[in-house]
Amino acid sequence: MPDVSEGATELLRLVASSRSETRASIARVTGWARNTVNARLDELLDLGLVTDTGAVGGSRGRPAARFSFDASAGSLLIADVGASAARFAHVDLRGAVLSQQEVSLDITAGPEPVLDAVVRGLEALPTRDDLPAWALGVSLPGPIEQPAGRVVSPPIMTGWDGMNVPEVLGPRLRVPVLVENDVNAMAWGEVVSTGRMRDLLFVKVGTGVGAGLVLNGALLSGARGAAGDLGHTHVGVGDGAVQPLCRCGKRGCVEAYAGGWAIARDLNDAGVDAAGAADVVARLQAGDPVAVDLVREAGRVLGAGIAAAVSLVNPAEVVIGGQLSHAGEHLLMGIREKVAAYALPLATQELVIRTASRPHDVGLVGLVDRMTRWALEHAHLSEILRRVGVAS
Ligand SMILES: [Zn+2]
Repeated sequence: MPDVSEGATELLRLVASSRSETRASIARVTGWARNTVNARLDELLDLGLVTDTGAVGGSRGRPAARFSFDASAGSLLIADVGASAARFAHVDLRGAVLSQQEVSLDITAGPEPVLDAVVRGLEALPTRDDLPAWALGVSLPGPIEQPAGRVVSPPIMTGWDGMNVPEVLGPRLRVPVLVENDVNAMAWGEVVSTGRMRDLLFVKVGTGVGAGLVLNGALLSGARGAAGDLGHTHVGVGDGAVQPLCRCGKRGCVEAYAGGWAIARDLNDAGVDAAGAADVVARLQAGDPVAVDLVREAGRVLGAGIAAAVSLVNPAEVVIGGQLSHAGEHLLMGIREKVAAYALPLATQELVIRTASRPHDVGLVGLVDRMTRWALEHAHLSEILRRVGVAS
């Protein structure tokens, strides 16, 4: 069986990152001679990684054949693990879901039971022999050190500090593993699904609060993967002892006022039953005035934290996702008010503040795109092709 050459790998990355290419456009972009282009294209066509998608008529001369990345050449496994639930999915290389299931779990139970549940959940998905899994993508609600995929000092994932997830899951599921912070995956999903590669601050407001930053079209992870931890930014005022205690152990964090758990706590204090973010949204949709009031106030606290981030990085858009984004204008109003009040006009004049374009699967979209790019990096591609029996 043939091994995939470095040149063909480079060509695959080019074709995968665009809608389609012709022999002429490949030659123009790469500077390769015509016979080199042909040889490398033949290699990818033989491996089934690229397909001839048919000729498109030109204004003169013979129509040129077009070549596209074949999204049915393989598949990906996804484990989107949240604080209290996980979604497991088998998707094609463009992110179309082939099968999926959701389970309840508790991230604070620690890595062993949670990763066992991930293995069980993925193994329970129906598989297809014609669509071998290239890789597994895991998103987790904590800071991830890249490229190792190690969890670092997570505020809410009790017992996970230092856990190298690829080292545990890779051998058990026999696929390369990419780990990504959940909000980074959502931020990237917003960029991919809107097709606008710009400057974006994505804020997830669910049980907790987190943010993902896309600057100059690239995801910002920071020196150790902790960039965007908006939820544990300090916004408390007055005597520290009276500021609310956060899940991270500090007082006065954004999350201690505006996270779903904090709003549920305040609802309970006001005599209204609520166990978490889902109950807060349910009370809100039922028109409970106490819930409306608390969510609006949460919006103002979020707005103060977001205003600081807006001043610092000047995004074009602030996008709100997560369970509490279903609160819509109740939440956005306070955010807009405080961002306008606290950030400079130059940073806010054309700033768009809105909810996520795909509230239910924006993280999945982002993770799939990150994984496809990652899998096409040369080292992973050779490994993947060997694994699925395409290359020797
Ligand atoms: Zn905190």
